[in-house]
Amino acid sequence: MPELPEMEAWRRALDDPVSAFPVEKAGPAHIATLKTFEPPLSALEGRRFAGAERRAKRLLFPTDDGELVLMIHLMSAGRVRYVLSGESGPKSPAFRLRFQGGGELVLTEAGAKKRAGVWLLAPEEAEAELAHLGPEAVGLGAERLGEILGAENRRLHSLLRDQRAIAGIGRAWANEILHTAQLSPYAMSTDLGPGPVEALTDAIDSELQRGLELRERGAKDAKVYRVHNKLGEPCDVCGTPIGRVDVDEHTIYYGPECQTGGRLLKDRRLSRLLR
Ligand SMILES: [Zn+2]
Repeated sequence: MPELPEMEAWRRALDDPVSAFPVEKAGPAHIATLKTFEPPLSALEGRRFAGAERRAKRLLFPTDDGELVLMIHLMSAGRVRYVLSGESGPKSPAFRLRFQGGGELVLTEAGAKKRAGVWLLAPEEAEAELAHLGPEAVGLGAERLGEILGAENRRLHSLLRDQRAIAGIGRAWANEILHTAQLSPYAMSTDLGPGPVEALTDAIDSELQRGLELRERGAKDAKVYRVHNKLGEPCDVCGTPIGRVDVDEHTIYYGPECQTGGRLLKDRRLSRLLR
């Protein structure tokens, strides 16, 4: 699932091309992908985007007349790219938008499940759609993060992924951030003293920045991640094999020596507890 670094790298890459020419043809979109019907996509035709913006894991393309906002959420398997004029793009993308210069913005989604979404909204509707999101993860500062951690007693991995608390972090970057901060994914948020809060604040900024720089250079997952999906590989800090634990519907990766005092975390799958 693309998270803040991945989305921000795409936003930067799309900012110029999407604003270079007015829209010639918006759509078609897969029926499951297009989430709004009024105004119709054709309302974009003849208008020009002001550029590409981002909020949490969503891309926003406001028109330069201030009347409409195209919003894209890629979910797990969606990918967005700009296809240059004359370059061959995907045959049947989930969504396609052609510009007058001949370039296209295309959204594809791997797998049978269509979960990625495209919305065409008035600016105030877009604002309402985004109102539930917490503050952007980068640049929070220790004081603000301390307030968020103290608001509710929750396990750190789960809290970091909660878009209502902090926006932009998902499973992969929660793993990377907690490893860098040397905090257990199971640690309770209200138990953190000033030192660990400071470490977590720094780790959020430094890891998301590291991710963004690597993604802008086109780095793939295996190079970008140091913990996520690295079961059994040596921790780059201490050399201990990276561990994995299953919690409900998802999987956490962590460094036992660096994060949990050498203890292996136990699976907390609901299905196992019920058995
Ligand atoms: Zn380690």
